[in-house]
Amino acid sequence: MIRQPMVFWATGALVVFCASFFGKSAERKIRMWSFGKTTDGEPTYRYLLANDKGMEVEIINYGADIVSLKVPDRNGKIADVVLGYDDLDGYQADKSYLGASVGRYGNRIAAGRFTLDGATFHLPRNEGPNCLHGGVRGFNKRLWTAADASRADAQVLEFGYTSVDGEEGFPGTLVAKVTFTLPSDKNELRIDYTATTDKATVVNLTNHSYFNLTGVPAEEILDHRLVLHAAKFTPVDATLIPTGEERSVADGPFDFRKPTAIGARIDQDDPQLRFARGYDHNWILEEAGNDLHAAAEVYDPASGRALEVETTEPGIQFYSGNFLDGTVRGKAGQCYGHRAAFCLETQHFPDSPNHANFPPTELKPGQTYTSTTIFRFSTRK
Ligand code: BGC
Repeated sequence: MIRQPMVFWATGALVVFCASFFGKSAERKIRMWSFGKTTDGEPTYRYLLANDKGMEVEIINYGADIVSLKVPDRNGKIADVVLGYDDLDGYQADKSYLGASVGRYGNRIAAGRFTLDGATFHLPRNEGPNCLHGGVRGFNKRLWTAADASRADAQVLEFGYTSVDGEEGFPGTLVAKVTFTLPSDKNELRIDYTATTDKATVVNLTNHSYFNLTGVPAEEILDHRLVLHAAKFTPVDATLIPTGEERSVADGPFDFRKPTAIGARIDQDDPQLRFARGYDHNWILEEAGNDLHAAAEVYDPASGRALEVETTEPGIQFYSGNFLDGTVRGKAGQCYGHRAAFCLETQHFPDSPNHANFPPTELKPGQTYTSTTIFRFSTRK
């Protein structure tokens, strides 16, 4: 693998080698490296966003996947707090969506079917009877174009992908963009999504990073303290499709309105926890609206690292890594075990196209889908 730093231009195709470009220039260019070729022979690249506060994020144009995210602990020790793989083979074989940009429809659509303007569309049923995360070859298995849009105050990496009409069964050609921004003076990663279509379709884009704030994936995340700014969640059936009910979290294991260890109630004898083998549910965010609002906070008492999540989305899927079982071999040969990490997937609710009472996910020609999420890192003593 080529390891020299490079500078890249708009399409990602024109690549200029530059040994020491990265530095204190007014506009900080993003460094990039080859990440090997796909099984179809397409070249892929790994991009490094870095700031002055010790935060580094690496993203690849295959799947627009976050492959590493490094932040300091309370003593200033930097560690990678996301799961991932060492090489492209890992991402091409991945079935867990490690770090992935998920689309065209993140989360599940019941029976892989929905109706829009009187027409019924059939999607791949890639998880039991349902369609999960955009089908067999969703946005996480596609090559994205890349452009460096860095400014004086932030490194900005823009990815683009055009999903053709009928891809994975979805109607309309969807032009999607995912932009990652790392400010120079703040340890936060901002992700902006936009999409337009030429026929009515459904869209729900999210990021599927698996976090472990200890920086040590051999440690379970059960001691991490979680807050979810949600008074209700959407209970599911045995195949994890919402029943349509919006249920209060009060007095039960789904109440994370005050900081609570993820593991405190995870093994309670609760039918909802049994269906998902832990948490794998959508919480309804209290302050939902089109503006950014607080969604979640996580604190790891061992390292002192804290993560705050803000989003413009009405929901968040908190997934406690229940289906990780030690068979996924990730970075540095580490096997990712049960509950080795958690995901906080900002989103519209699962199976919205089949639930008229949920916030709509339809996108029509002439409209622009927008969604923003911020992952903000800090430390506590
Ligand atoms: C789902 C889980 C699934 C995981 C990986 C999450 O968004 O809710 O059930 O195992 O993604 O696919």
